[in-house]
Amino acid sequence: MTAQGPTDQARTYPAPDTFKARALVDAQTYEKMYAASVGDPDAFWGEHGKRLEWIKPYTKVKNVNFTFGEVSIKWFEDGTLNVAANCVDRHLATRAEQTAIIWEPDDPKTPARHITYRELHEQVCRMANVLKSQGVTKGDRVVIYLPMIPEAAFAMLACARIGAIHSIVFAGFSADALADRVNDSAAKVVITADEAPRGGRRTALKSNADAALLRCSDKVRCLVVKHTGGQTTWVQGRDVDVLEMMSHASPDCPPEEVGAEDPLFVLYTSGSTGKPKGVVHTSGGYLVYAAMTHELVFDYHPGDVFWCTADVGWVTGHSYIVYGPLANGATTVMFEGVPTWPDAGRFWEVCAKHKVNQFYTAPTAIRALMAFGTEPVEKHDLSSLRLLGSVGEPINPEAWNWYNTHVGKGNCPIVDTWWQTETGGHLITPLPGAIPAKPGSATRPFFGVKPVVLEAESGKLIEDTAAEGVLCIADSWPGQMRTVWGDHERFQETYFQQYKGYYFSGDGCRRDADGYYWITGRVDDVINVSGHRMGTAEVESALVAHDKVAEAAVVGYPHDVKGQGIYAYVTLMHGVEPTEELRKELEVWVRREIGPIAKPDLIQWAPGLPKTRSGKIMRRILRKIAENDAASLGDTSTLADPGVVDDLVENRMNKG
Ligand code: ATP
Ligand code: MG
Repeated sequence: MTAQGPTDQARTYPAPDTFKARALVDAQTYEKMYAASVGDPDAFWGEHGKRLEWIKPYTKVKNVNFTFGEVSIKWFEDGTLNVAANCVDRHLATRAEQTAIIWEPDDPKTPARHITYRELHEQVCRMANVLKSQGVTKGDRVVIYLPMIPEAAFAMLACARIGAIHSIVFAGFSADALADRVNDSAAKVVITADEAPRGGRRTALKSNADAALLRCSDKVRCLVVKHTGGQTTWVQGRDVDVLEMMSHASPDCPPEEVGAEDPLFVLYTSGSTGKPKGVVHTSGGYLVYAAMTHELVFDYHPGDVFWCTADVGWVTGHSYIVYGPLANGATTVMFEGVPTWPDAGRFWEVCAKHKVNQFYTAPTAIRALMAFGTEPVEKHDLSSLRLLGSVGEPINPEAWNWYNTHVGKGNCPIVDTWWQTETGGHLITPLPGAIPAKPGSATRPFFGVKPVVLEAESGKLIEDTAAEGVLCIADSWPGQMRTVWGDHERFQETYFQQYKGYYFSGDGCRRDADGYYWITGRVDDVINVSGHRMGTAEVESALVAHDKVAEAAVVGYPHDVKGQGIYAYVTLMHGVEPTEELRKELEVWVRREIGPIAKPDLIQWAPGLPKTRSGKIMRRILRKIAENDAASLGDTSTLADPGVVDDLVENRMNKG
């Protein structure tokens, strides 16, 4: 359906004049640079690749083939560099005493840590020497299974320093998920911690690692960070007290020279749509792209304090807590806790405490906080904030307005950044000084990115500016993934087979008459009601716009008359009673917001929704429940809280 959803009448929001006055990129510059970037990518990226320090400068820039069967992606291929030297050593001459990482612990009563670039250098070298002492060399894989503690960043950079490939596994994942990833990547070492504190509780990480390692080669070493000091079992000969070893290790470790196309890390996708894919990113192009997007999209100026609330187990944490900010010599905040503990003002308390200038989070967090009202946000001093960011899913206009009004006080541009694990960095996003926002739109492409909209069935390119279909990218950018770990076939089949000559994102979108992109959700999530195609995001957005609804997830289910019916899972605001009356009210509400065709057929009250650890709703699971097929839920290893599924199955509406 080309619905006349709330998004079509959207107002535009330019950045305030004071912001624009010092913005790194203005509207004219954006147009000029964008044209140059897609007109002559070799010249453009040849120039911008110089933002890094290369050991051996590249002479070739782009070497890419998107042809199915021959897919190959290379950038800066004859250049060599070291990623850790770019993120740390390079800054020592000018900002050794500047804070690189502000670590904010789970418990607000524990003091924060301020780690300078000098200190970071020392810690990374020590950790690199420990890895070496365990036999890790260039090209070896290291699995990192750590809480959000500085050692996670040290470990990533230590791997980069010696040319080892890291693969981070969320600290919230189970022993099985960890074992699968250790085995899939044939890792030599796992780095973990005794316990992971989160929201006042502690997860026994080391116990999980012990259980996982029972399923792995007995040659795998286990490096343990004694973080809480909680008791752990110790396997002599396998387990290593990493902090203790670091204290004796040399603080010097020369950076290894690696090729631009040598892998930097493997990271599994969130698993929203199927079995997670081991995404491989390489060193040169990835870092150029992460650094450049971090600087320009967040309008980062030297001295700013930047906070991305993601976990390092998600690509957002890789690119925008560690690699992008540190490559730019920034001060980056690393937060161990959760937004709602000890109370729903925790994010804002941290913003005030560390005088955060740019704040980057996910719509799911914003919606969760909206449910607590405005008091927790109003009571903190947020005057340091200059820019807000959003990532992970389309931000519904309701959440956008709340974010803008109560957090940004109407003074902070909001950058809605569309990207994926696969893309390494932002692809469609406003540059805040150049592109006025429209709530719910990721707006326009970053430099070098050529989005196209294709007809879903025929794959035909839609030339008109106003268009709706599947979102593909017509040419490569330096941050693009290079392959699926150990499975180049799957890489080609997933991203290059269906729409020949393009990178297929898996997302649907609409492009409006101004050339703005509106992501409508996964192509897999499109539902077809009585012949009308509808993105689930639209119906969810309408539901969330109701003041009693905190969150909603919509899927299709087989319907005798309509082909597919609309099944909505609805989480209510705190303290709201679920009643039959409210159910009716919501039906009428959606009907009025979007139209009769979008009225939900079934509404189930959901105390919680199944989400990935990065906060995405796993609609494929909800679809199974709605289809009354709970027996085949598929891969659930990336669920944040598997418990919510049982409740939903128990109370499903579709008992037929
Ligand atoms: P899998 O690929 O295993 O199914 P996933 O796609 O959830 O998992 P990620 O790479 O973490 O894994 O998520 C990327 C997806 O997140 C995008 O394809 C898009 O659907 C969604 N997304 C991210 N940012 C935005 C945004 N700003 N607006 C709309 N959608 C977004
Ligand atoms: Mg995906």
